[in-house]
Amino acid sequence: MARVRLVAGNWKMHGSRASNAALLDALVKESPPNCAVCVPFPYLAQAAERLRGSRIAWGAQNVSEHAQGAYTGEVSAAMLAEFGCRYVIVGHSERRQLYGETDAQAAAKFAAVKAAGMTPILCVGETLQERDGGKTEDVVGRQLGAVDFKGGVLAYEPVWAIGTGRTATPEQAQAVHAFLRKRVPADTPILYGGSVKPQNAAAIFAMPDVDGGLIGGASLVAKDFLDIVKAAGT
Ligand code: PEP
Repeated sequence: MARVRLVAGNWKMHGSRASNAALLDALVKESPPNCAVCVPFPYLAQAAERLRGSRIAWGAQNVSEHAQGAYTGEVSAAMLAEFGCRYVIVGHSERRQLYGETDAQAAAKFAAVKAAGMTPILCVGETLQERDGGKTEDVVGRQLGAVDFKGGVLAYEPVWAIGTGRTATPEQAQAVHAFLRKRVPADTPILYGGSVKPQNAAAIFAMPDVDGGLIGGASLVAKDFLDIVKAAGT
């Protein structure tokens, strides 16, 4: 089966009703295929409403690993699914680094998202120290190995490239993607994330094992995001 291409925007904790409306409407105007936006929880309904009838999918950036219960502040996979959510980012490095999310939690969240009928986007990636120490494959192999990975999207996001303006070279991305490719089902889309911009997207997406991107900063600017989506082709 051919691997689908996908470019997913990760808005992180950015946006307002007014700025989201302008951004979503600009995306809907072009309605490219193979594209999704992952928005903050309070804006899921706004994204659902404004994207209805377009080809653009939408998703969340986090989910609880628990089904329900006394977990103040958490949102379950069933709640997201009830809303019509399609994708959920799991194990983003900001969750791992800032909120202490473990491999085991990422694995439980991945399973919860799948059980609710949605598609998890699992993020893996090494820090600069780990890369410099020759540990990249150990780290991403461990993060991926913790998950019963089937039916998901995988995103390689070197931590040193996220929000830093420092992108992995296409060759660096390809090397890690090829390593990951051997460890997931053949039809798994593997996205690259880390300072992807319209200027560097085409070269990265041209690599044989790169199936698209997970885009942070540039997904907040409609033209930049649309240009990146175009660079991924269909
Ligand atoms: C991300 O948050 O997943 C990301 C890749 O961010 P940026 O594109 O801003 O580096």
